Amino acid sequence: MIDERERISMVVDKVIEMFQPDPARIRFDDPFYALVSIILSQNTSTKNVRAAMERFRRRFNSVEAVAFASLKSIQEAIKPAGLWRMKAPRIKLIARQIAEGRIDLRKVLSMPYPEAKRTLMSLDGVGPKTADVFLMFARGEHVLPIDTHIFRVMRRLGIAREKDDYEVVRSKLESAVKPEKRISAHLALIEFGRRICTARNPKCGECPFSKICPSSRVLR
Ligand code: SF4
Repeated sequence: MIDERERISMVVDKVIEMFQPDPARIRFDDPFYALVSIILSQNTSTKNVRAAMERFRRRFNSVEAVAFASLKSIQEAIKPAGLWRMKAPRIKLIARQIAEGRIDLRKVLSMPYPEAKRTLMSLDGVGPKTADVFLMFARGEHVLPIDTHIFRVMRRLGIAREKDDYEVVRSKLESAVKPEKRISAHLALIEFGRRICTARNPKCGECPFSKICPSSRVLR
């Protein structure tokens, strides 16, 4: 009988092998646009995030331009992204706080992880996941952020319990995944959740974990 850490490690190695993510393809030249891109990526395909970011950057060339723009013009710019109506006020709120000097994102990038995360989360509209994803992509922090797909997959596999919150699941996964593998693990687990262990009608028949998964729909 394998223990939980071995199970997590086995699942992560398998999904990395399946999807072979390339963390190097994700690069940001400006921390504010990195944060916007992370917000846009929720419930949105990579292709549509790219389209929304191109429109957004064409329309707004500075954080101040976003901070004082109308909500409608931000919504219009990010329309290719899912949930654009809800995301626009969040982007504007964050831009406003940065423009007012509440936080300097470049300084945050040189802080130790706990301080950097705490500082990011002091912004209204930035929670632990957004802060972790930002630090992971903007400076290669060895953290393993848990998005909605990863949460679902871990619950179905019996690794995350119902009562486990974001930090509990993150530390469970991080205790089993080597630091240098965490970005790939994050990207591959999201792909697995999007393509195989989908929210509705998971494809258990195609899943390599169907024999060990307590939620499998495959008859055993
Ligand atoms: S067996 Fe089904 S429910 Fe379990 S991880 Fe695979 S796809 Fe998800």
